[in-house]
Amino acid sequence: MKKVYRKKFDAKAKAAKVKIAKKSGGDQFKNLKEWVAFYKEHERLPSTKILCSSCKKKATSMFGDNLKRTLPRFGSIEGLLTKFECSDCRKAKAPVKEKKVKVPKRINSEDGSITEKSNSAKEYLTLDEIEDRKEKVRATLPKFNPDFKPIPYDINNEDDVIELTKTACQRPDIFLDYGCPECPFYQYCVCAVKSDKLRNKKSPNSLRRK
Ligand SMILES: [Zn+2]
Repeated sequence: MKKVYRKKFDAKAKAAKVKIAKKSGGDQFKNLKEWVAFYKEHERLPSTKILCSSCKKKATSMFGDNLKRTLPRFGSIEGLLTKFECSDCRKAKAPVKEKKVKVPKRINSEDGSITEKSNSAKEYLTLDEIEDRKEKVRATLPKFNPDFKPIPYDINNEDDVIELTKTACQRPDIFLDYGCPECPFYQYCVCAVKSDKLRNKKSPNSLRRK
């Protein structure tokens, strides 16, 4: 597969992206000019989703291949940002499709007999239908919180180590290779698999807590 090289996204671009995305609050119409300028400079949008121009309620993912494929239909990035409609709105406006009926295939043989074969041809999804499916799957995924700050833990603090080890072994690598007494968490660890047993493999002493 051909490798696609994207324009480098430096710290300045990242800061601009966050600023524009925050200002819009999920609505690109609020600061459309900034969105357009950002796209022209970086070839991507400041957010992974854009708001529906029709219902102004539903956001749709618009990045990567989907963006590349959808953009030409709107002629320009302004067109895409101001005219794109979510799948629900598109469906509501589209004429009702005729339901597909399976028609058995008739095969006329040379000897004059006719056999009917059930038509088992696969139905393929259009690219739009594939994007709709992806959107539905994305809606079920847990949300990523960019403002989440990692909680600092102190390995020398008993309470911290208890908190860390009460549900899982923190160093399964040491547990498996050398045994718990060689682990820096050993003293305060409350993990269910904790054991005093040493394994055969000798550990480098640097692993152990001083
Ligand atoms: Zn809509």
